[in-house]
Amino acid sequence: MKKYSKRTRLQKSTRCKDLLRMFADYLDGELPQPLCAELERHIENCQTCECVFDALKKTLALYKHMPEVEIPRKTKRDLEHLLRNRCLGLRKN
Ligand SMILES: [Zn+2]
Repeated sequence: MKKYSKRTRLQKSTRCKDLLRMFADYLDGELPQPLCAELERHIENCQTCECVFDALKKTLALYKHMPEVEIPRKTKRDLEHLLRNRCLGLRKN
């Protein structure tokens, strides 16, 4: 069912970075609706983002089962950063 052209893939890589930045807000429910829809649509079609998003979501879900633990925003950011480096291979070294 995939019908991506090379052109689409190029746009996609720019888009992924933008969307990855929105993940934390999205999971916090702070992302505006149109962006949520866009993000969801993208995830459905992008394996990389799906991988990152899924891992992030699962990790946060685990934390949510521990009511006394509140995840600081910074931790989420760190996690997001880690996942991004892993999945997209954007490691600095
Ligand atoms: Zn993507």
